[in-house]
Amino acid sequence: MKIFETKQALQDFIDEHRSKNTLIGFVPTMGALHEGHLSLIEKSKQHGAATVCSIFVNPTQFNDPKDFEKYPKTLEEDIQKLELAGCEALFLPSVEEMYPEGMQQLPHYSLGRLEELWEGAHRPGHFQGVCVIVHRLLEAVRPDLLLMGSKDFQQVAVIRYLLAHYSFEPNMELISCETIREASGLAMSSRNVRLSPEQKIQALAIYHGFDMIRMAIFEQKTRETEVLEQQFAQQLLDAGFESVDYIAFADPFNLEPITDLSQTFVVLVAASIGGVRLIDNQLFPHELFKRV
Ligand code: AMP
Repeated sequence: MKIFETKQALQDFIDEHRSKNTLIGFVPTMGALHEGHLSLIEKSKQHGAATVCSIFVNPTQFNDPKDFEKYPKTLEEDIQKLELAGCEALFLPSVEEMYPEGMQQLPHYSLGRLEELWEGAHRPGHFQGVCVIVHRLLEAVRPDLLLMGSKDFQQVAVIRYLLAHYSFEPNMELISCETIREASGLAMSSRNVRLSPEQKIQALAIYHGFDMIRMAIFEQKTRETEVLEQQFAQQLLDAGFESVDYIAFADPFNLEPITDLSQTFVVLVAASIGGVRLIDNQLFPHELFKRV
């Protein structure tokens, strides 16, 4: 695997592959890699793409400075994992390389309601930071395929909006990949390393909450989203979460809240345990409840 620290060096590598008509697949990450990240590399390779992964802990997307400071860094292990996964190139830029003009005056992206809902409301400025960095990374890589995890459901929606409303390579395809979970059901996340073994068990309450919703609908207990949200939140607090930012029943395309559970919907969750903020989601396709 080649490692590049500058956009120029990366571009030379990409131009070389492009001249051979090879597809370029791109997986942007913040490092502390786990199987969720590696599944994106694998998916890119399944498409026959030369795969570029970036590791950059992007300061502008952290609304909480403590979260930024505590973000896990495991570069040596990450490089080994990427080598094993058959990743062709790693882009490892410095803050100066990505923000040569500093971080004070950055472009503003209008993201409509996506910035007001859920993560947008709870992490002011977060999606602006995500858009700035993804825009810059995409300009540097100009991939054919952009692979992202549906673990960050709203982030995928924001990037889809960005690609549709700002000018990018017209043929770039955004591929949203399924959430990889531990055998227990806990969604893999770089932040999980900050949880104790006990907190990891308590955190399963999120996964069990999704089961509770499925069962409530199958058993025709209730279809009231408000009741289900309250029940879910209470289960998280009972399990040991200290706070619940939101439990949302939403339209999977525009993420607007919904109350009609006969259509396909997504349940989005953000809650904190042991000072670690976890997010997760589950899609409920309407076919699941057709006969209910
Ligand atoms: P991050 O390093 O957290 O910024 O994540 C980089 C990419 O990996 C994003 O597209 C995430 O959605 C994706 N990702 C993170 N966790 C998982 C997971 N458990 N399963 C699948 N993709 C994931």
